[in-house]
Amino acid sequence: MLKKLLSSLLVVAFAVCFCGCDLKRPQSDESEKDSRKYLALDTVIDITIYGEHDDVFDTMEEALDDYEARLSVTEETSEIAMLNKSGGEYKKVSTDIYNIINSAKRVHDMTDGAFDISVYPLVKAWGFTTDEYKIPDMEEIERLKRNVNSNNIMLDPDTLSVRLMTGMQIDLGGIAKGYISSKMISSMEKSGVESAIVSLGGNVQVLGTKPDGSAWRVGIQHPDYSDCYIGVLSLINEAAITSGGYQRYFVQDGKTYHHIIDPATGAPAETDIVSVTVVTDKPIDGDGLSTAFFVMGTEKTLKFLDENPEYKAVILTKNYDLLVSKELKNSFEVSDIMSDANIVYF
Ligand code: AMP
Ligand code: MG
Repeated sequence: MLKKLLSSLLVVAFAVCFCGCDLKRPQSDESEKDSRKYLALDTVIDITIYGEHDDVFDTMEEALDDYEARLSVTEETSEIAMLNKSGGEYKKVSTDIYNIINSAKRVHDMTDGAFDISVYPLVKAWGFTTDEYKIPDMEEIERLKRNVNSNNIMLDPDTLSVRLMTGMQIDLGGIAKGYISSKMISSMEKSGVESAIVSLGGNVQVLGTKPDGSAWRVGIQHPDYSDCYIGVLSLINEAAITSGGYQRYFVQDGKTYHHIIDPATGAPAETDIVSVTVVTDKPIDGDGLSTAFFVMGTEKTLKFLDENPEYKAVILTKNYDLLVSKELKNSFEVSDIMSDANIVYF
């Protein structure tokens, strides 16, 4: 069983019904829908499905349980923990884990190493896996950095085996949720579901439209006010995946240290981005990319998006610029709370 099944009929937080700020309350719809909320994968998971699909919720719960058991870095028996202990040997993994690592390597290549699952020992050294935060000394950072390089993760597609270089450890937390949401949505589709939305922390993916044919409305959280949105996306068969330093951080001596590590420095990324949301029909890439964009900062991200127009983004910068892909102009409604922001469509 999952750690906790919180409720069987909760209003889904991400479907914008009410936020206490200035966003409009969407018209209520009469169609039957059911929502469930779970705590798994270190985050709150919300699923809403239109129609009678109790059995689908059961399947989803089992799947989440199973992913958690295989992906957890702290659970001794998980596939990832076993890999991290495998000391330079090829280790057979399940198809899911193989696929996620394969995607992670692809995003690593696409982003010139800004996304790197082998940054895990540094995430640990900064205390983000245990919430016992600390600033590691430079010597430790330099030592741990030496093993960070996803090019040294070898994959054997014939045997579904993975080899980590000795001393290397990985964590799929920056990309697995995109993979899991896409698997959940395709499994629902196979079970006859036509209209659904899943949210795993900052990863939201929608299936189809709402029963009345309208798009799903997905709020992008305001970094400073957890019950407000910087704006609302209208999505059909797409995902919106957000990364931001505000999601997990600690403050020491007046300085904020967040959970996204720049593999080049071994420290929390020095970035001009506060929050970045990737909108895409490729949620796995989108999850890796949103983490990478945060590391890369605005300039490199805009160049990337110019060269890869299949990905769209909403970026909030420290200068209070709100940078929005021009393709989203008609599907992103900026919240009134952002009236002081400099809104730029690129
Ligand atoms: P996300 O919430 O998808 O942006 O992922 C953040 C999580 O990914 C962190 O909590 C770390 O576990 C992990 N992570 C941190 N920095 C990186 C990085 N540069 N590349 C890949 N994963 C990272
Ligand atoms: Mg990510």
